[in-house]
Amino acid sequence: MNYRKLLQLPQNCTRRLINHHLSWLGLAASLPLFGMVTAFAVAPGDPHAAAALRQRMVTEKLALPAFTPPATATRYWRSETVNRGDTIARVLNRLGVRDSEARRFLYSSPLSRDLLKLNTGATLAVETSDEGELYALRFLNDDENGEKVLVAIAKQGDQWQASADPLATESIDSLRSITIRRSAPRELQAAGVPREVVVQLADIFADRFALDSLQPGDRIQLVFESLIHNGSPIANGNVLAAEISRGGQWHRAFYFAHDSESGAYYDAAGRPVKKGFSQQPVANYRISSGFGTRYHPVLHSLRMHQGVDYAAAPGTPIIAPADGVISAAETQNGYGKVITLRHNARLSTLYAHMQRFAPGVKTGKPVRAGDVLGYVGSSGRVTGPHLHFEVKLNGQAVDPATAALPAPGLTDAQRVAFAQLSRQLSDKLALLRDTPGMIAQLD
Ligand SMILES: [Zn+2]
Repeated sequence: MNYRKLLQLPQNCTRRLINHHLSWLGLAASLPLFGMVTAFAVAPGDPHAAAALRQRMVTEKLALPAFTPPATATRYWRSETVNRGDTIARVLNRLGVRDSEARRFLYSSPLSRDLLKLNTGATLAVETSDEGELYALRFLNDDENGEKVLVAIAKQGDQWQASADPLATESIDSLRSITIRRSAPRELQAAGVPREVVVQLADIFADRFALDSLQPGDRIQLVFESLIHNGSPIANGNVLAAEISRGGQWHRAFYFAHDSESGAYYDAAGRPVKKGFSQQPVANYRISSGFGTRYHPVLHSLRMHQGVDYAAAPGTPIIAPADGVISAAETQNGYGKVITLRHNARLSTLYAHMQRFAPGVKTGKPVRAGDVLGYVGSSGRVTGPHLHFEVKLNGQAVDPATAALPAPGLTDAQRVAFAQLSRQLSDKLALLRDTPGMIAQLD
């Protein structure tokens, strides 16, 4: 129990109390030594003087200074999950916050209406007093660029302040070692491997085997990124390294970033682990914005970007990177002119912000790899012309660069960097191999 909190004492106050206590103990302990001298000084010849004096001094010292209670009321943080249809006002009501000034500020603040719309399932945290007075309010939201931001309002003195800033996060390596007893998906879950990471892992080795084909005795060693904000994990990044022993044969994959926006998986010899599509959706491509949930090394922020953005001139043809069927060709608010392709029962792709569709494009039409779907534009909510490209695996957005796009071979310079990286990651995997059971390590 935190007694300081219980007593509502500020830190320096408590320390003063302890110091007083200690000095009193010191004085009491020294009394028998000095008692006689003092006694003579006060009442010479009186045999009871020393005891009387000792008694009086103790009484005085026990009268500890009166502590004035802190002027500010107790503040504490509480949080509430956002339900479907919730507004900030509704959640504040549920939390018993009765602070009309704060509410007025919130809705007259410079924060955009979109940023104040709560996402179902999000967590709204408030700092209040016992009386329901509001001091601060925080929640996570996505800004118009799909970047995760921390929306916060807080009272500084008498002034309210509002902010929506990219999230300060740090990336740590999470390590897991699992020996299959019954089923890999179930045991990965039991070992605390997040669902998105399991999807990534399954996809990395999808060309070779399915995760649920692993048998008792097979093993999985895994290193993945966890993104930490204020000491709590808030998202997962890439699988950085994985090795799976299946029927006595080891399969290994190491994530290698081609740049800050995308990367792919390579085996220990530097060969791409996945075959991927036969081509990119845009020729002469440059990925201008990679897939989030990952830590952005330059911006030091958390990106929650559902796809990748290709920077390209307006009118550049967008081509189907693989065979499929057009499952939708329509105009949407955010995405503008958008096409969705279904490639098989598990995999679909999406192409947004098109200037226009190619002639003959309509729902239900089969397309072959290389067919033109439309042209790069800036329809929908965008800041400039680009292709926003998404890949969904069993309905979940995955990194197109690692999950579907063709993995380029490594250049000579990249091979040197890869050799160094894979050595470091191999050491971590080896550590896991020699340490059966589940461990997590902060890096
Ligand atoms: Zn995008």
